[in-house]
Amino acid sequence: MGEPSTSSEKPKYWRTPLDIDKLQMPKGKVFIIKERCKGCGFCVEYCPRDVLELSYEFNSKGYHYPYPKNEEACVNCKLCDMLCPEFAIYTVDATKEKKTEVEKVGN
Ligand code: SF4
Ligand code: SF4
Repeated sequence: MGEPSTSSEKPKYWRTPLDIDKLQMPKGKVFIIKERCKGCGFCVEYCPRDVLELSYEFNSKGYHYPYPKNEEACVNCKLCDMLCPEFAIYTVDATKEKKTEVEKVGN
């Protein structure tokens, strides 16, 4: 039996995936329709990558809407999109170059 492992050691069975050069981390681009937002903060609270933050600005209804403070971290999981009760936020695949008409409207 060997020495007990310390927390600073690498996991015993960790290995680099054989196809790591083919894997690409998904990236998302965030679109927010400010006037639809009611400032509930669900998207900010539940984003697993801490991408969003509520703005100090108000929309015309008097609510603080979110903005992507750290858009680089977005993995396009679309959780914010699914949680938003007002359909005020959505993301698209940022690795695709061409934008659709819907995406342009969201800008
Ligand atoms: S798509 Fe996922 S990672 Fe990106 S902002 Fe929404 S919840 Fe966060
Ligand atoms: S979940 Fe929707 S309504 Fe709530 S803060 Fe986010 S964008 Fe606004």
